[in-house]
Amino acid sequence: GDFPIETDTLVVGAGPGGYVAAIRAAQLGQKVTIVEKGNLGGVCLNVGCIPSKALISAAHRYETAQHSEDMGIKAENVTVDFSKVQEWKAGVVKKLTGGVEGLLKGNKVEIVRGEAFFVDSTNVKVMDEKSSQTYKFKNAILATGSRPIEIKGFKYSERVLDSTGALSLKEIPEKLVVIGGGYIGTELGTAYANFGTKVTILEGTDEILGGFEKQMTAVVKKNLKKKGVDIITNAMAKGVEESADGVVVSYEAKGETLTVEADYVLVTVGRRPNTDDLGLEQAGVELTERGLVKIDKQCRTNVSNIFAIGDIVEGPPLAHKASYEGKIAAEVIGGHPAEIDYLGIPAVCFTEPELASVGYSEKEAKDEGIEVVAAKFPFAANGRALALNQTDGFLKLVTRKEDGLVIGAQIAGTGASDMIAELGLAIEAGMTAEDIAMTIHAHPTLGEISMEAAEIAIGMPIHVV
Ligand code: FAD
Repeated sequence: GDFPIETDTLVVGAGPGGYVAAIRAAQLGQKVTIVEKGNLGGVCLNVGCIPSKALISAAHRYETAQHSEDMGIKAENVTVDFSKVQEWKAGVVKKLTGGVEGLLKGNKVEIVRGEAFFVDSTNVKVMDEKSSQTYKFKNAILATGSRPIEIKGFKYSERVLDSTGALSLKEIPEKLVVIGGGYIGTELGTAYANFGTKVTILEGTDEILGGFEKQMTAVVKKNLKKKGVDIITNAMAKGVEESADGVVVSYEAKGETLTVEADYVLVTVGRRPNTDDLGLEQAGVELTERGLVKIDKQCRTNVSNIFAIGDIVEGPPLAHKASYEGKIAAEVIGGHPAEIDYLGIPAVCFTEPELASVGYSEKEAKDEGIEVVAAKFPFAANGRALALNQTDGFLKLVTRKEDGLVIGAQIAGTGASDMIAELGLAIEAGMTAEDIAMTIHAHPTLGEISMEAAEIAIGMPIHVV
C-alpha cells in the first residue's frame, strides 16, 4: 500500500525555475512539495552558470596577472594550482546550493529527493533507490530542465566532454578542441585559453555566437585571436579517435577532411529538454516536435492544472528566464493575473569582453516595420573604461523614432552583463532616451555609457562630435 501524500502544488525539478516557483507558491499560501532527483539548484548552480563563471573569473585573474604590462605591472612566475581552483569553485557552488536549501525550508517548502514520474494528471510517483511514494497534487509545475545533446561520432567519455566534464577537469589541458561556438563553448574556450590552453573552436555555421549581432561578435573574435584561439567556421565535426592521452578530431571544411589533435574535445552543440522518462503522456501533457512542453502565456500546459517553465519550454534556455516563468506560474496558481512578456529578457555572454543584449536590435525593429534611432557610444570614449584599460567595444541604444521610447540595447564591452540591467529596466518601465539622458549617472562609471548613448539619441551628444 502506497498511500498518496496530498499537497497543493507539486514542483518537479529544483533548478532556477523550480526552486523559485516553489518559494513564490509557498509565499502565496500554497502547501508546496518540490521533487529533485539530483542536486538542489539544478544545472545552473551545479554545472552551469555559476561554476562556469567561477572558472571564467579565475582564468581571467590568471591572465591579467601575467599581462598588465601596459599599466606598468610585470609579474613573473605566476602559477595556477588547478586543484585549488576547482576546490574554490566547488565552494562557491556549495554556498549557493546550501542557500537554496535554506530558502526552501525557510518558506516551508517540503523537499523530496527522488525521481518523479507522472501516473496521471493529479498523481506523481517519486522513486529513489529503495522506495516509491505517490504524491497527489492540485497543481503541478514541471521544471525538469535540459541536458547536453550527444552528436553522432562523439560519444561522451574521459576525453570527449560535455560542459559538465569540461568544468570539472583535473588538469589544464595543453590543447582543447571545442565543437560548437555557441555561448557555452565560447565562454569555456575563453576560460581555458586564459589558463594557457591552445584552443580550437569548430563551428558549423559561418559565425560563432550566432545569436548576437556581427558588430558585437567581431569585438570578441578580435580578442580570441589575440589569445591564440583558432576559430574555424563552416566546419562540420565528423568523428573522434581517442587514445590513452589524447584525441584526434576530424572535421570537414571547404570540401576537405582535416584533423586536429588535442588532449580533450568539448562538445557543446545544444541541449535537449528533459521531457522523456517523465510519464507526461500518462498525464496527457502535449509536447512540440522538439520535445518542448507546449504552454500558454500563463505557463499552463494543455492540462489545466499542470504548468511548465524553464528549459523545457519555448524561448531562450537561460536561468533568469526559468526563474521569471517560475514566478509567473506561481502567481497564476495563487489566483493572480500574470502573463509572460519576454521583451525585457536580457541575453548575456561572459566572453572577453562581455556581450549583452535586451529587447530589439536595430534589424529586428526594422523587420517589424518599426522606425528607430540607433545611437552608439564607444567604450574608448569613457573615462572609467580607459582607467580600467578596457576600451574595446560599444553600447548601442535602440529607440523608437516617433517618441524616443527605449525598445532595445546591445552592449559589447567590459561590464556589459551588469550594464544591461539598466536598459532592461528602461524597457520594462516604458522609459524614453530622454529619461536615461537626464538620469544622473555617477562619474566616472561604465554606466555613463548608457547616458551618453541616450544623449546622442536625443540629439545632444556631449562627449562625441
Ligand atoms: P535545470 O537547471 O536544468 O534544473 C532541472 C532540475 O530538474 C535538475 O536539477 C534535474 O535533476 C531535475 N529533474 C529532472 N527530471 C526530474 C525528475 N523526473 N524528477 C525529479 N527531478 C528531476 N544560463 C544563464 O542564464 N546564464 C548563464 O551564464 C548560463 N551559463 C550556463 C553554462 C553552462 C555550462 C550550462 C550548461 C548552462 C548555462 N546556462 C546559463 C543555462 C542555465 O543553466 C539553464 O537555462 C537553467 O539551469 C534552466 O533552469 P531550469 O530550472 O529550467 O532547469
